[in-house]
Amino acid sequence: TERNANEPEFHQAVKEVLESIEPVFDKHPEYKDAGILERIVEPERQIIFRVPWVDDEGNVQVNRGFRFEFNSALGPYKGGLRFHPSVYAGIVKFLGFEQIFKNALTGRPIGGGKGGSDFDPKGKSDAEVMRFCQSFMTELYRHIGPSTDVPAGDIGVGGREIGYLFGQYKRIVNSFDAGVLTGKGLDWGGSLVRTEATGYGLVYIVEELLKDHDDSFEGKDIVISGSGNVAIYATEKAQELGANVIALSDSSGYVYDSEGIKLDTVKRIKEVERGRIKEYVEEHPSAEYVAESFDIWNVECDIALPCATQNELDEDSAKVLVEHGVKIVGEGANMPCTPEAVEVFQENDVFYIPGKAANAGGVATSAIEMTQNGMWDSWSFEKVDAELNKIMVDIYNNASTIAKEYGMEGDLVAGANIAGFLKVANSMLDQGVV
Ligand code: NDP
Repeated sequence: TERNANEPEFHQAVKEVLESIEPVFDKHPEYKDAGILERIVEPERQIIFRVPWVDDEGNVQVNRGFRFEFNSALGPYKGGLRFHPSVYAGIVKFLGFEQIFKNALTGRPIGGGKGGSDFDPKGKSDAEVMRFCQSFMTELYRHIGPSTDVPAGDIGVGGREIGYLFGQYKRIVNSFDAGVLTGKGLDWGGSLVRTEATGYGLVYIVEELLKDHDDSFEGKDIVISGSGNVAIYATEKAQELGANVIALSDSSGYVYDSEGIKLDTVKRIKEVERGRIKEYVEEHPSAEYVAESFDIWNVECDIALPCATQNELDEDSAKVLVEHGVKIVGEGANMPCTPEAVEVFQENDVFYIPGKAANAGGVATSAIEMTQNGMWDSWSFEKVDAELNKIMVDIYNNASTIAKEYGMEGDLVAGANIAGFLKVANSMLDQGVV
């Protein structure tokens, strides 16, 4: 802990994994001898850099940029970029560490990494966002590449930002290396379904869990936090499968619509106008707006899908959800439930799917995008969607089977952590002490 002082999110993520994999070390003393643990918690490379840019008023602004290349045992570093004022080394490290195991679970040849900046895209003009992205890439380009490190989007980084980042990369290296970034536009190397992938994937894995218990989404009340990329497409797929999504949020508050969220309105407000979720009630006055985002968990539901940010669902919220009879919690965001909240779910027999399994559909589809770029090809929506669905079903089965094997039936936290860890640890063993 002294080595990584003042990084509580990173400690939280590491502790959860280390607790789960204890039984693995009893079975595999060779991991200990090879120093796997000491190596896996240390990023292979940590890059922190200055990002200077000029705002619309002509003032010079300075942000901090990060790219942490965590583990390349399985393939090139892969993971998103987050632009949010809360970004600092501890956030990038927790996300990068989680990414190692998540990427392993997808079955694709991708290592783990993460990056971003404390830049806040909110309220900035397109021109400001472009100048920031160009400055960010002017440093980042030298560290990344299609077989080295392949960034993508995350909070605050969507199609617009990936476009500006790619434009600057291409200009500097003088080469159209489509595989250097994922989440690209459909006209220039992007993959169909990548935009929808994390939200759809989350719903696919929950659907598999429901099927496993002879149940379905039909008629279920669902609460989804956030109203960004993951939340919107989780809502879309859940509604398609017959569920009733009744609440969505942003960092200012949440909306509750007992008749079911009208997704067209949300898409327009969030994707086109870049507005706030409270504007939803102007169009649908029978819906209710509450100016307290994390109170969204007071809304009664069968399934809760936290899709906003880390530690957004705490012990008290978990207790309220349990009191209200929640059956399933699936994490669309990374580490949205605090450890205490997870304990409440597990003690009360709520099915809980951790983020590294539940939201792996995004990065899995990014890997499919890389495959298409490598082949100079583009696949149909149906083909990518079917592949995504299969990956999510495989992740569920893999995590369930491993949990059972280690005597922890139904514990998908243990199952996901162990399954991901084994693949990475074995690859590290094969490749020697590097
Ligand atoms: P977006 O930026 O598209 O949306 C984020 C949403 O969460 C917004 O509604 C935002 O509200 C809300 N939010 C963000 N920070 C906070 C906060 N501190 N408090 C309350 N609400 C907050 O991001 P994504 O949808 O892409 O990402 C959401 C989560 O999913 C993240 O944890 C991300 O790491 C994870 N994830 C994303 C993947 C992807 O493919 N995009 C893949 C795997 C995981 P506001 O607009 O007010 O800021």
